[in-house]
Parts: sequence; structure tokens; C-alpha cells
Amino acid sequence: MSSVDVTSLLSSYKKKNITIATVCSHSSLQIFNGAKKEGFRTLGIAVGGKKKFYDAFPLGKPDEFFMVNDYKEIITHADKLLEKNVIIIPHGSFVEYLGAENFLKLPLPTFGNRQVLTWESDRVKERQWLEQAGLTMPKEITDPKTITSPVIVKYHGAKGGRGFYVAKTYDEFKKRVNTSKSYVIQEFVMGTRYYLHYFYSPIQNNGYKLKKGSLQLLSMDRRDETTIDEVQRLGSISELEELGIHPTFVVTGNIPIVMRESLLPKVFSMGAHVVETSLGLFGGIIGSFCLETVVTEDLEFKVFEISARIVAGTNPYVAGSPYSELIQPDLSTGRRIAQEIKYAIDTHQLDAICS
Ligand code: AMP
Repeated sequence: MSSVDVTSLLSSYKKKNITIATVCSHSSLQIFNGAKKEGFRTLGIAVGGKKKFYDAFPLGKPDEFFMVNDYKEIITHADKLLEKNVIIIPHGSFVEYLGAENFLKLPLPTFGNRQVLTWESDRVKERQWLEQAGLTMPKEITDPKTITSPVIVKYHGAKGGRGFYVAKTYDEFKKRVNTSKSYVIQEFVMGTRYYLHYFYSPIQNNGYKLKKGSLQLLSMDRRDETTIDEVQRLGSISELEELGIHPTFVVTGNIPIVMRESLLPKVFSMGAHVVETSLGLFGGIIGSFCLETVVTEDLEFKVFEISARIVAGTNPYVAGSPYSELIQPDLSTGRRIAQEIKYAIDTHQLDAICS
């Protein structure tokens, strides 16, 4: 649970002089670029030699760097960052580098509702949330002896799908399982993957209206995962497995994608239910989130995960996506975040979108 009193932190802020800050990684180029387009000052928190690479991208380079020896130190420098009126934009690497516990107690105004982390990082709670929202998740197999069709074995806290594997029988499962780590076994859903990038505003009522606030679909991507996505160039997966070559699910990049238009009503209804359920469970998810889905041959969505902040899959859309172009030209998720902060400043509601 976050113990931060955001209203009190924001009370000392000069609202005309807010700085958008994040850790230099993940989606930071897009976040800085979007903030600049909306007229904000930007600050990048960086370690060591990281900073040089930003010279190559002047429009994605922060106005100022804040150097630390280790990202875990950010919490001890909070006072200096408070003086700079920073609003932190968390992304996946930010939370990972800082550590979940430090992130929850970081005494800096942070875009989004930090309570979501408890619901997102615990697989049992995540399932409770998504199933309560009426979404279909892949079945979970509790007794590996009952494996009769392909399953995916996922280790808790594994970064970028590292160590995940597919098994089709109990024997295959047993051969590769690492029992020193905790894991779940899920039905391997056959279909095509779509990672849906939403933006929920609790304070604006434009577009697709919910009980409270409104929902946008800004873009979608498909993750490029090594080696599974190209391993078939060498032969079928079963052939390769017989040779002891096992595919892996490590994310290396993101590919832009659009979906057949007839599926969009379902996409909005899923996003709306996820948000409305979250309002009751923990006060509501705020801003960007991503549903990770597989669409089956019956055109049904199975949702295997939710990411509750900006995902790197939005990076192909620095200059807008086929969906965000229909909202406003040149609208990235990073820019949309900056717009939400700007609107909240103008309407004195910053504490309604930060925690
Ligand atoms: P995750 O860490 O849950 O995002 O999973 C990493 C990758 O494994 C995903 O991007 C998918 O390619 C794949 N994956 C995860 N769960 C499933 C599933 N139940 N069925 C099929 N593929 C999955």
C-alpha cells in the first residue's frame, strides 16, 4: 500500500512550473517527446553512461539529467526532486529498477494510482480483478499430471518471459520444470496476440464514456519475442525440441498492428469493465494500461495479463497510431499523459490523477 499523501506533496508545488520526470529507459524518449510537445520541462533520471545516447535524439532528450549511482537511490534524493516540482511518470523499468516497495513509498507525486501495483503483481489478485470484470483468462492447471494439451509454464517475477516454456505432456513438463522457483501452469491459448493500449481519464468526459470519466484506445502492438517468433526458420518446434533446442519468450521489440474493425466494440467493452471493476476494488486504475490478449479462431479474446502503466509497445507510435490519429493528429501515449497532467493543472485536479 502506498503511504504517500499526494495532496500534501502537491500543495508546495508551483503549478505553472511542473517538470515531467522519468527514468531514462523503456518509453522515456516518447514520454519526454510528448511532454515537450505539451510545453513541459522534462527531467531524466539516469545512471552512468546512459545519458550520451540521448544526444542522438534531440526531440526525445530531457531538458535536464538527474544522475544517480543506482536507481534505488532515487528515494533518498526525493527532496531535491520535489524542489524541481517533478511529476514522475512510472513505466515498467522504473518500477523494476526502483523495486516495488520503494516505488510504493516514493515521496513524489506519481502519475496514476500506485495501489494498482498490488493487484497487478499478484497473479491471484490479478485473476480476481480481470475475471470479476467479465474477461476470459487462460485456464490454470493446478495438477501437472492432468496436462493433455499445450500449456505454458510461467515463473513468478520472470523478466520479459525469461525461463517460460511450453509443454504438451506431463513428461515434457517434468523434464524442464525448475521447482526452486514458483510458477503457474496456464493453458497455451492458440490464436494471434494483440496488446491493447488504453488510456483512462477519470477527470475528462470526452469520447467513450464510462460510469466515471472516459476511455480511449490509443494503439496496439504485437511483441516480438525471441526465439519463439522466428525459431520456425530452422524447423518445426517439435523437431527442434527433439534436438534439445527450446524456444524462449524474451521480448526484444514491438511491432505495430491494427485489428479487424468488427472486434473494436469488444475491445472497448473489455477496457471499460476493467476500469469500472478497478474503481470498486482499489479506487481505480488511472491513465495508460495494456491488456495482453490472444484472439482465438472463434474471434474470442483471452486475456493473459494486464500492465497498469505505459507499455513499451506504445513506442512505435511517437507520431501517432492508426487509432490515435482519429482522436488527434500526432498523439502518442506519452503526449496523452502530458495532456492529462496539463488539463488537471488547469482544472485544479492534479491529486485526482496522481498518487
Ligand atoms: P507474459 O509474461 O505473461 O506477458 O508472457 C510472455 C509471453 O508468453 C507473451 O507475450 C505471449 O507471447 C506468451 N504467453 C503468455 N501467456 C500465454 C498463454 N496463456 N497462451 C499463449 N501464449 C502466452
